Amino acid sequence: SSMLSLIRKTNLNAFCKNYSSNVAPTTKLFIDGQFRDSKANDWIELYDPATNNLVTKVPQATQNEMEEAVESAKKAYQSWRQTSVLSRQQLMLKLQAVIRRDIKKIAANITLEQGKTLSDAEGDVMRGLQVVEHSCAAGTLLQGESLSNIAKDMDVVSYKLPLGVTAGICPFNFPAMIPLWMFPMALIAGNSMLIKPSEKDPGATMLIMELLNEVGCPPGLVNVIHGSQDAVNFICDNKDIKAISFVGSDRAGKHIYQRGCDNGKRVQSNLGAKNHAIVLPDANKEATIDQLAGAAFGAAGQRCMALSVAIMVGEAKNWIPDLVARARLLKVSAGHEPGADLGPVISKEARKRVETLIESGIKAGAECPLDGRNIKVDKYPNGNFVGPTILTGVQSSYECYKEEIFGPVLTIMYADTLDDAIKITNSNPYGNGTAIFTTNGSHARHFVNEIDVGQVGVNVPIPVPLPMFSFTGSRGSFLGDLHFYGKQGLNFYTQTKTITSLWRKGKVEVKSSVSMPVH
Ligand code: NAD
Repeated sequence: SSMLSLIRKTNLNAFCKNYSSNVAPTTKLFIDGQFRDSKANDWIELYDPATNNLVTKVPQATQNEMEEAVESAKKAYQSWRQTSVLSRQQLMLKLQAVIRRDIKKIAANITLEQGKTLSDAEGDVMRGLQVVEHSCAAGTLLQGESLSNIAKDMDVVSYKLPLGVTAGICPFNFPAMIPLWMFPMALIAGNSMLIKPSEKDPGATMLIMELLNEVGCPPGLVNVIHGSQDAVNFICDNKDIKAISFVGSDRAGKHIYQRGCDNGKRVQSNLGAKNHAIVLPDANKEATIDQLAGAAFGAAGQRCMALSVAIMVGEAKNWIPDLVARARLLKVSAGHEPGADLGPVISKEARKRVETLIESGIKAGAECPLDGRNIKVDKYPNGNFVGPTILTGVQSSYECYKEEIFGPVLTIMYADTLDDAIKITNSNPYGNGTAIFTTNGSHARHFVNEIDVGQVGVNVPIPVPLPMFSFTGSRGSFLGDLHFYGKQGLNFYTQTKTITSLWRKGKVEVKSSVSMPVH
């Protein structure tokens, strides 16, 4: 009878699965310009983080579907690589116009699936849109090098040419910006791209695919598959995929870097972070407190460039009560609620994890002048909310310091001197972002010179470089050689072909030479 009940239970589970996958809206695949229902057996449920209501089901694409997507991208590449840079620019110019037109629509989808506030979600789209705009400079940026008369009657030119089919694997925290860091740069250089959005919020990518169709993007140039580990491993192993762009956590990123490289691919892997702010007592107090609160708690701390550690140097320690008061004013609610400053974190598990890390900090000896656990949010009793939290007196040995919390938690440390603060920052394994707050130019310059972090702000809390530069996280925050977007981004998506030509007037004297030609 226990066997019978087991079978019944299994059937019931299967029934529920089929039943609900028929009624819940599903996220489509995008292959060869078509939005398609997946034939997947496994579906991932996606919940609105503010209510935990089911929003959609995301398929774990089947092997066949993933293979079709690569075939389609391969075919699209064959004609796309022959197009002129001007016609590729035309596509991006049209795309930027419709993304701009639909910013609010895309932002609303981000707020629904990811939870961040509407204005923050618009920023998410906008930072991606800037990459689309900048890709239109490819006519200049894609130029190779040339030298005439490198030997008698001999000239050399080099071209930056596409790689073929490329792939992008995205995290949940910037559902529009990160795919837009990837495919516009890949396409403008003549590649096609397969995207695997985060299974936690693929909606923004799908809306952008609708826009690509609207502006006449050739079918197959960008395809979208969904899934998690299996889809990722498929991408790492598929021999037709030449390069992988990854943004996300250490665990996934190290795996993808290793497996992709083992398969002979180019990989750029943006990983986790722990970004330190150094506050000097000569800083502009009001501005610094505002900037710290915004950069620590905005997006509920779910930014890879969030300032999650503040090192108060000397007397700056005395500003903590004001910082606590400022953070207390931030309004926590569903992202679409007017006046909301921060929304929920992505999932119940994420909330639990953040709360556990806060707990561990307190247990280890930190004080908690502002505790966002168990926050009650009007109208949203089921959301994954954590309020702004401040832990002070944190030591580098604490779990809450060593782990990337990825929630609205600011851990505060103390240092006697700027050099002590620099030492703490440089001893952390991550090197994504950092900022100093000061009104003293020579302190600022010393900091810039000594700090071993890839993206540095001077009185700028979140120094994410604009698209004419590149996103240059370093040390533990990046694996690879070439960074995202900017000149490095185009170099990542291109290979160089160098042509040496000899054109001599009249009769060329031929004699076979067996030694290495030195021109
Ligand atoms: P994640 O690593 O969990 O997911 C990213 C992608 O990897 C997803 O598409 C997911 O399906 C896939 N994935 C997850 N686990 C995997 C596994 N074990 N094997 C193979 N694939 C796997 O990251 P996330 O939680 O979506 O994003 C948050 C993380 O991303 C944070 O650590 C944050 O710092 C980082 N991040 C970094 C940057 C940057 O530029 N450095 C930018 C944004 C986010």
